[in-house]
Amino acid sequence: MRIDKLLANAGYGSRAEVKKLLKQGAVAINEEKVKDPKTQVDGKHDLIQVKGVDVHYREFVYIMLNKPKHVLSATEDRIHQTVVDLVAREYGHYDLFPIGRLDLDTEGLLLLTNDGQYSHQLMAPKKHVGKLYQAEVRGYVTEEDVEAFHKGLELKDGYTTKPAHLEILKAGDHSLVRVEVSEGKYHQVKRMFEAVGKQVLELERVRIGALWLDEELSRGEYRELSLEECQLAS
Ligand code: URA
Repeated sequence: MRIDKLLANAGYGSRAEVKKLLKQGAVAINEEKVKDPKTQVDGKHDLIQVKGVDVHYREFVYIMLNKPKHVLSATEDRIHQTVVDLVAREYGHYDLFPIGRLDLDTEGLLLLTNDGQYSHQLMAPKKHVGKLYQAEVRGYVTEEDVEAFHKGLELKDGYTTKPAHLEILKAGDHSLVRVEVSEGKYHQVKRMFEAVGKQVLELERVRIGALWLDEELSRGEYRELSLEECQLAS
């Protein structure tokens, strides 16, 4: 990786500011001053110093966000605030993106990273990573619905869903349920309830794989994942 990109990623300012540092002779690789921003560097093995202080560089970052409503699962948008905007103050220099999407009005567990391979691993349809949602639904959810979710439902576009586990937490005019799906079709949970004549009023994702949303995180809050937690999600 180029030294100017690495230092910008590590929080030493914009590429232009980093270039200035280099020009000033403030940057050393393996104790040799470098001035050329194009100099290639190995963030893992080379000793990189700025003004004599070691740079601790991490190539990849993994973040758990408790997504609030009205925030878009995207990197940038002209109208809505995005999930990347939420973490930008601390992680703006890491080129983060969300792993998959939650609808604008869906809340809860969303992961962000700059590790394309990790994201791909989580999103690969063959991996069948389970995602657990809690939903408030208009209508009386029944054992027949549980059965229908288990068998697979035909959505309006003709697609038949893979078996999903539906658990009724509270049945009534407004029901509270949990549903685990192993695929990520557009508006999947909402459309599954539509297929049994019910409407999702509130939707929250609470788990991906074996990784639960940290209850300590309020809506809009986020924190980094440990390596073990990254593995739980995949
Ligand atoms: N299913 C939906 O309908 N919406 C989401 O945001 C996630 C799953």
